[in-house]
Amino acid sequence: MSDSLFADASRRLERALKYVSLSEDAIERLKYPKASLIVSIPVRMDNGSLRIFQGYRVRYDDTRGPTKGGVRYHPKVSLDEVQSLAFWMTFKCAVLNLPFGGAKGGITLNPKELSKLELERLSRGYVDAIADFMGPDVDIPAPDVYTNPMIMGWMMDQYSIIKRQLSPAVITGKPVTIGGSLGREVATATGAFYVIEHLLPKFKRVPVETTVAVQGFGNAGAELAELLSKAGYKVVAVSDSQGGIYAKKGLDIPSIRRFKEANKGIKAIYCEGSVCNIVEHEILTNEELLALDVDLLVPAALENQITEVNVNDIKAKLIFEVANGPITSAADLILESRGIQVIPDILVNAGGVTVSYFEWVQNRSGLYWSLEEVNQRLKHKMVEETEAIWKIAEELSVPMRTAAYVYGLNRLSESMNAKGTRDYYLNT
Ligand code: NAD
Repeated sequence: MSDSLFADASRRLERALKYVSLSEDAIERLKYPKASLIVSIPVRMDNGSLRIFQGYRVRYDDTRGPTKGGVRYHPKVSLDEVQSLAFWMTFKCAVLNLPFGGAKGGITLNPKELSKLELERLSRGYVDAIADFMGPDVDIPAPDVYTNPMIMGWMMDQYSIIKRQLSPAVITGKPVTIGGSLGREVATATGAFYVIEHLLPKFKRVPVETTVAVQGFGNAGAELAELLSKAGYKVVAVSDSQGGIYAKKGLDIPSIRRFKEANKGIKAIYCEGSVCNIVEHEILTNEELLALDVDLLVPAALENQITEVNVNDIKAKLIFEVANGPITSAADLILESRGIQVIPDILVNAGGVTVSYFEWVQNRSGLYWSLEEVNQRLKHKMVEETEAIWKIAEELSVPMRTAAYVYGLNRLSESMNAKGTRDYYLNT
């Protein structure tokens, strides 16, 4: 068995396949991405030298609509990673019943080493390289790790220059002033918050008696930590790529966010107005954060954080996957045998792509929604699909992850059948 991330990602399907009657055609098609593109992006650096960056875009499956998925800038980006993320996007869009297939993109680099102008030239170069592969009805990128609305704005502008017409619907997660949706920047966290709030009573828990540790203090993790602490949960630990902080009494998330924004790091502080004081805390490694004895663990950084190596250290009772693929399939089985409930990425972090869908709809209709309308629609979708998956898990006595795959597979299979498969023709 291969150890690639994609092989591990595909293993999630095997268990779900037992519970769905899928045509052989559908099973065969879901094993392979529809198309993968590897590009070299030449960038003129500020010192006059030329550097070539490697970029990727994978369109995994477009049965249910144009493909959709973020663009990641990270030193570990590879074709294997992008393909796995595109595979997960296919199921995420099906689980949320969005009219999209799955895709993902990325560039292998450490964005912290580039100046802003170099980053802009690189982002525009990426669009030059993949322009024939994308489009509002073909493939629609969005932000992911270390990309943001500013980068989405450059990319949309570059695509519009190439096509000689303004094309806001080609990309989502843009700045609001050029067609971004209100609420998109915080949508992944907001969606995850709705999922947690809906499921918490089912686990017989109340927010004020629930301790939380969040790994990853970026777009998704920091916002979710703040939403949870505002709702009364006790967020006792957070971390970023440099490590983490822990305070038994709970952390003041808004103060930590302000510090991180100004200083590019995290610090256990409490601020009132402009006066900030350090609070009593412990410094943690990311491994130590994952092993904390908390009620709720939220991995919100990268994939493969909980593996066979550290899974037996996990003490949390509940894990909500905000990152994509933070738990390997082998570790997943061990967590299950230990009675630790995992709520899967393809449901928990789907708020991002859901509001991306809303943004695309708004761009195409030219009618823009209020923040209340966006959040109301997001909440409705997240709660509806969470409840449906919960019911499947109960009926089949399977973990939430298997239930989510069963749910998504059924939708994908129906759509594939509707376009014609061998079984479909045999049955008519
Ligand atoms: P981000 O770039 O805003 O933040 C990433 C955070 O993770 C940063 O705080 C970084 O310091 C931290 N980090 C990086 N490596 C780490 C490590 N080894 N240990 C601990 N922390 C580490 O990215 P994001 O948009 O918040 O994405 C985080 C996760 O959520 C990713 O898995 C992403 O695919 C997933 N996700 C994001 C969105 C979205 O809309 N942004 C949507 C769905 C899923």
